[in-house]
Amino acid sequence: MAASDLSRLIAAAADTIAAHADELTALDQAIGDGDHGLNMKRGFEAVRAEADTFAVKPLPEALKAIGTKLVMTVGGASGPLFGTLFMALGKEISAEPDRAGLTAAFGKAIEAVAARGKSQTGQKTMLDVLQPVHEALAEGKTAAEIVAVADRAAQATVPMKALRGRASFLGERSIGHMDAGARSTALLVRAVAETIER
Ligand code: ADP
Ligand code: MG
Ligand code: MG
Repeated sequence: MAASDLSRLIAAAADTIAAHADELTALDQAIGDGDHGLNMKRGFEAVRAEADTFAVKPLPEALKAIGTKLVMTVGGASGPLFGTLFMALGKEISAEPDRAGLTAAFGKAIEAVAARGKSQTGQKTMLDVLQPVHEALAEGKTAAEIVAVADRAAQATVPMKALRGRASFLGERSIGHMDAGARSTALLVRAVAETIER
């Protein structure tokens, strides 16, 4: 991937997190501790600050370095999980991946997140967006379709009962609110899909 493409991806991801930080915080206030927007903004601004260093690396190295930076800066439960997602993606992907290569690497990266979080789909977490997005990729869906799948999947966490993370402490009271990590994942999917399309 060209350095300019990776730079645009980093900027798009950081922009959408910054633009939605208050919304992510509000979601986490309802059923968590209200720091998800701040956590994600801190992490993605740290990545943006070093975008020039990341963008010149081969894609696998860039993704690993971004994941490491996210682990160090996001904090909370989501930091190590998003960090694992990017690090594992970097470990599995090739420098110039085709659709099949990206799909396979993304699948492995999701497995790494699930292992790290001791979690699976249906527990009202970021995995409830990651998994359907992986399926959409595997089915050959277009970028616009994948964005719609991600948005619907985040929405589908509203009626779920949280079984992982802080929201799980609320039991039944976690029902009726969107999971913050599912929402931030859908935002990142949109940023990546729309940037790649352009
Ligand atoms: P914290 O809960 O430590 O304050 P954040 O608010 O930044 O961390 O992130 C919370 C998000 O992390 C949740 O909305 C959920 O999507 C995700 N999450 C938490 N625990 C897990 C887990 N075990 N597996 C997968 N995702 C998780
Ligand atoms: Mg939180
Ligand atoms: Mg916290």
